[in-house]
Amino acid sequence: MIRGRFAPSPTGPLHFGSLIAAVGSYLENRCHDGQWLIRMEDLDPPREQPGAADNILRTLDGFGFEWDGEVIYQSRRHQAYNEVLAKLTESGQLYPCTCSRKEIGEQGKSNAFGVVYPGTCRDPLKRDKNKDAALRLRTDNKKIVFSDAIQGEYSQQLETEIGDFLLKRRDGYFAYHLAVVVDDAEQGITHIVRGCDLLDSTPRQIYLQQLLNVPTPSYTHLPVAVNQAGQKLSKQTQAKAIDRKQASLLLWQVLDFLGQQPDIELKHETLPTIWNWAFTHWQLSKVPQVKTMIWSD
Ligand code: GLU
Ligand code: ZN
Repeated sequence: MIRGRFAPSPTGPLHFGSLIAAVGSYLENRCHDGQWLIRMEDLDPPREQPGAADNILRTLDGFGFEWDGEVIYQSRRHQAYNEVLAKLTESGQLYPCTCSRKEIGEQGKSNAFGVVYPGTCRDPLKRDKNKDAALRLRTDNKKIVFSDAIQGEYSQQLETEIGDFLLKRRDGYFAYHLAVVVDDAEQGITHIVRGCDLLDSTPRQIYLQQLLNVPTPSYTHLPVAVNQAGQKLSKQTQAKAIDRKQASLLLWQVLDFLGQQPDIELKHETLPTIWNWAFTHWQLSKVPQVKTMIWSD
């Protein structure tokens, strides 16, 4: 049995961009008789909004999504993350890093993914014992290659293109890559469907799966909705919160965005009718093979 998930970060209400990931992963897993779980990625309290997690769940429920099992909250999983960090420290793969963002910016090379960590704190003598330390995972120069169900083959050489990356931040919070890998494994996720903004995170996650000896799921990265200026719809770009009263029209628009060519008459049908159409017509092969697409309402 295959199993997928939707893993929102509760930094604000659901918007069209996050709805695309929810609908895509739901249909792709349900249409293969798979299960579909929800995980709340509440790892970063300063960026979260009180009530957002409940609001997201109410919106999903209002859209007619049905999820399997209990919702998992990453804020309640700290013990599991600490155990993995202890294991990686013991095997020598994790090391404390006291570099500031400014120091890394000055010393590291920049590329399309950001600044490559220059490896400073691999040398214990270069660490500043008086500062709080982050925990960084040692990378190597083997190429990580995977085949994305929409985007095709994708590869990265982590050491040269990304550099050693954080699993725990200097402010004490756990990093997304750590939590996502530990929880996907714990929840037995086999089919990850999410936005293309996470495509370049995937090799880091596969690398960590390999170190932890857990299975690598299959990956499907959907096109991301961007505004006219090419910015991803998000809270930062003032993406509009979803209006639950418009649910059926929004679902139709997501199906249209994902290349499913829903009948135009369907646009004004009820939510159950549109879902029914979606369950019988969903085809991953119709999703455009692009990383971004402009969307304006
Ligand atoms: N929490 C992440 C986000 O909202 C998604 C993580 C994932 O799907 O792997 O961007
Ligand atoms: Zn450092």
